[in-house]
Formats: sequence, structure tokens, C-alpha cells
Amino acid sequence: MQEGFIDYQKVLENEEHAIKSTQSAIQKAIDWFRSKSMFVLAYGTGCGAIEMPPTFTSRYDIERIGVVGVATPRQADVLIVSGYCSYKTLKRVIRSYEQMSEPKYVIALGSCTINGGMYWDSYNTIKRLEDYIPVDIFVNGCMPRPEALIEGFVKLQDNIKNSKKEAGFIKYRENNEFYKENQKKIFGDNIEPTYEANFAGMN
Ligand code: SF4
Repeated sequence: MQEGFIDYQKVLENEEHAIKSTQSAIQKAIDWFRSKSMFVLAYGTGCGAIEMPPTFTSRYDIERIGVVGVATPRQADVLIVSGYCSYKTLKRVIRSYEQMSEPKYVIALGSCTINGGMYWDSYNTIKRLEDYIPVDIFVNGCMPRPEALIEGFVKLQDNIKNSKKEAGFIKYRENNEFYKENQKKIFGDNIEPTYEANFAGMN
């Protein structure tokens, strides 16, 4: 009787193991496909926006690695913040980011997004983009060349292929109060719309 029970338990464990392996293989395939079809919002801020046209056109042709531009946030999964952000611009950046559906990723292009760069003591320009929206990849330099941006995309694709759990959109969901508090320090309560309803029911 006991042997029969143990045999049955082993069968169940093997089945569970097979299901988990299948699920993990499917997830790996999904991650691979996702990494090779990245839709980037056609949006530029700061001087880095000048480097994006050659990156996306025939000179560097980033479409070779599966990266294309799209016109609206609802179709996009990558937002490039391509340089310094004035308070006015930051508001549009946040709004665009929140309108994008998950999974979504942010590439911060240039020193200004890391520490303010040459605008570090400006009265109307932010210093650390990461205080307001989560950043997945930083590409440093002033201004970074298309090769550097392409390398940033390759790194992001590696992260997606490896199913990195610390993707920025998850941080934004889990630490939303932190980001909203920082946003409020600049805008007060004047952030419209907040899109907080988007998080309802998600885990
Ligand atoms: S990092 Fe340099 S190139 Fe980029 S936005 Fe700032 S000043 Fe311009």
C-alpha cells in the first residue's frame, strides 16, 4: 500500500517537473521573440534625439537586430529618453511612459539623464531620470553615438532573453508611491492623468 503511494507520488513529481520544463521552454521562446521585436516610441528630447535618425535609417539600420520605430505609446515597448529633461518635458515623458502597455522598457541616453550632465545646476531641468521613471538601460556619453545606442539595445535584448525580473515596469508598479512622490515634488498634484487605475488588480 505504502509502495503504491510512493510510486504514485513519484509519477506526480515527474509530471510536475515536465510541466515546469515545458512552461520554462515556452517562456524562453516568448522572451526571445520579444527581444527580437522591439517597438520604439518615435519621441526625442535633448541633443541625443539627433543621433536617433541615423540609428534608425540606412547608415546604421538598427532594424537588422529587430528594432523599429512606432508612432504612438500604445504600440511601443521601448521609450528612449534621449537627453536632458526640462520639467515641462518630464511631464510628457511620464505621460508617454504610463500610456505604454507592459512589458515596457526605458533607455536613458546621455549623461544628462544620469546626473543632469551640463545642466546639473539648472533651475528647471531634472538631474536623475531614474527618480521619476524606472530606467532599464543607461547609455552614457555626451552625446552617445549610434554605436553606443545600438549596444544599449543589445544589452536590453540580453536582459529580456534572460527573463530579468527586475525590469523597470515591475519596479514602477511595485514602488509606484516612490515615483509619484518624486513627481509630486516637481509638479505638485498637477499630474494628469495619473493612470494609477492601470495597476488595479495586477500583482
Ligand atoms: S548628455 Fe550632452 S548631448 Fe546629451 S542631452 Fe545632455 S548635453 Fe546634450
